[in-house]
Amino acid sequence: MFEAIASALDLLCPRVCFRCQRTPEESAALCRRCLAGQPAPEPPAIPNLDACAAGAGYTGEVEAWVRAFKYPPATLLPDPAPEAMLGALLDRAARSLPEPALVVPVPLHPRRLRSRGFNPAGLLARQMAKRMEVPFDPVALVRLRDTPSQTGLDARARRRNVARAFRWVRAGTTPKRVWLVDDVVTTGATLGAAARALHAAGVREVFGVCAAATERRG
Ligand SMILES: [Zn+2]
Repeated sequence: MFEAIASALDLLCPRVCFRCQRTPEESAALCRRCLAGQPAPEPPAIPNLDACAAGAGYTGEVEAWVRAFKYPPATLLPDPAPEAMLGALLDRAARSLPEPALVVPVPLHPRRLRSRGFNPAGLLARQMAKRMEVPFDPVALVRLRDTPSQTGLDARARRRNVARAFRWVRAGTTPKRVWLVDDVVTTGATLGAAARALHAAGVREVFGVCAAATERRG
């Protein structure tokens, strides 16, 4: 039923690339040409992670999409483009990794979540898990400490800042392989600390999946 409505909508307003508005594509938010214009960086090596994949470099346009997605203007009709384009980058990163038993976003501390209203990593992870038809749990991992922003800290200070900040609280069987999703990876200190909590709970393999990665990884 929903599929019928979706295909009817596709006929009425055929999907086009969110970036160039021209090239028709079957279902992707970014056409092949626009994706090719955003080269995927070399994945960073992060302690406690089996691998980390990022969909694009955190520069220029991609940086603007992240900012527009994380700090949307207070309008009645929010622009769906930034989230959709970051989703396309996340999908590209995910395609290089082995299929997970569970997808988990890097959580915000409850206080931070209340003030922001949403967890950007959580939204991206939820949509990706839906597209890939893999299980998703936004509350399996919790943030115990409201750590200060990582901005402006060097790699060692970042690691200290997030050490022991996370805990696995999902009941039942521990999944063997988890994808840990974040919007942007910089030094990987946050992903590494979160992955450590997953391993402590018995998760065997942890893969980081990010829409973008910065070049400065300190
Ligand atoms: Zn395009």
